[in-house]
Amino acid sequence: MLSENGKSFDEVMTELRALKSEDPRWSEGRTFSLVYYLGEEHRRLLSESYSLFMFENALNPVVFRSAKRMEDDVVSASLKLMNAPEGGCGVMTSGGTESLMLAVLAYRERARVQNPELVMPESAHVTLIKACEFFGVRVRLAALDSAFRADRAHMRELVNSRTIALVASAPQYPHGVIDPISEIGKLALEKRIPFHVDACLGGFLLPFLEKNGATVPAWDFRVDGVTSISADLHKYGYAPKGASVVLYRSMDYMKHQFFVYENWPGGIYASAGMQGTRSVGAIAGAWAVLNRFGESGYRNLAAVTMATTRKLIEGIRAVPGLEILGEPAMSAFAYRSVDPSVSTYALADELERRGWVIDRQQNPECLHATVTPVHASSADAFLKDLAESVAHVRAHPEAAAKGRAAVYGMISKMPLRGLVRGEVEKSMRKMYSGEPIDLNKPPGFIQRLVLSLLSLWARIART
Ligand SMILES: *Cc1c(COP(=O)(O)O)cnc(C)c1O
Repeated sequence: MLSENGKSFDEVMTELRALKSEDPRWSEGRTFSLVYYLGEEHRRLLSESYSLFMFENALNPVVFRSAKRMEDDVVSASLKLMNAPEGGCGVMTSGGTESLMLAVLAYRERARVQNPELVMPESAHVTLIKACEFFGVRVRLAALDSAFRADRAHMRELVNSRTIALVASAPQYPHGVIDPISEIGKLALEKRIPFHVDACLGGFLLPFLEKNGATVPAWDFRVDGVTSISADLHKYGYAPKGASVVLYRSMDYMKHQFFVYENWPGGIYASAGMQGTRSVGAIAGAWAVLNRFGESGYRNLAAVTMATTRKLIEGIRAVPGLEILGEPAMSAFAYRSVDPSVSTYALADELERRGWVIDRQQNPECLHATVTPVHASSADAFLKDLAESVAHVRAHPEAAAKGRAAVYGMISKMPLRGLVRGEVEKSMRKMYSGEPIDLNKPPGFIQRLVLSLLSLWARIART
């Protein structure tokens, strides 16, 4: 790729556009995750604000005062939105992952116990498991109740002297339901342990639902016991990717995530988050979009999002054999087939054949959707394709044993999870060791995974 003399500006841009053309049609509402797009004006606002600050470096807030000023504005707006008390504080981060990593790190540092543990429900975002793995914290997973909310009694049982913090979500990603935050807050106060609420998904939507008059169960700093909140600006804040906040009730908690080293030959070094060099672009983009929309803008977006969500949920419920899991609190939800003659994963395959990008989940098998205003224009087409796809799968039950449906069905039911993990690790090593990948066959590595699982099964069956 690094040619001897480079290429012309136009040539490079043409090649980039060609690469982009292979991506899903997210601007037409064909994806139900990953992208938060509000149309052409929004795209221009983000791209111009981002490029205006693309070269500036937030590594040194003393040099680039602009970065610190915009970050302060974004953090204080977020604190106000989430009803932080006097003394509340926070930082902007690169995303939900970094926000959660910092909270886990701060609580581990604060607790300073041998063999630290974190207690959270199974539905808490997987990136918390990653954070615990990175920072040497043991995860204690609490079960979910029948409505997919954290089982409080189980959380209580898991708390012990090594517990560094409790975590719950508003809402959790897999089924979009809000955990019983008030009750968990009471547990946190009683046991005198910090409590992080992961509102990466809901942090910039739930406040506007409430302002629009909806009843939203208490989840933010108004709940006693909540000591920190993560909220992604690059989701329902509609900021460019690379923008999230982690907020704390007070500096007593946040100070534990800071890093300072005073003896480096390169100078005294201090950082508030995980990144070193970071573009001011995402900070400027977040600042721009918050200023552009203001409270009424976000309230309008929330109204459109919820109207579209209701339409989709009602439409899905109206298809015989389909159901919504639990009671979604906002605009993310899971749905599945409860008709034994309609495989949920085969339904996903059929929808994808019709040009939709569908997210598959497990335990239990279901499909996931995150709704944004862009789906107002695609909801009717989706519901029509959904009804037709259900009919198609019902008429072709063999589809469940074919293609990705068979693969995902088998992987999700595979009892020996260590094997699944090992095979995924093996294919990751391949994927990242420079082996050329065929972009036209994304599930290729999964096919290999299944083949090796099948042969393993055969071997086990023989012994
Ligand atoms: C998206 C999300 C995360 C992870 O955030 P990234 O920005 O993808 O790193 C964490 N928790 C919840 C509930 C989320 O929806």
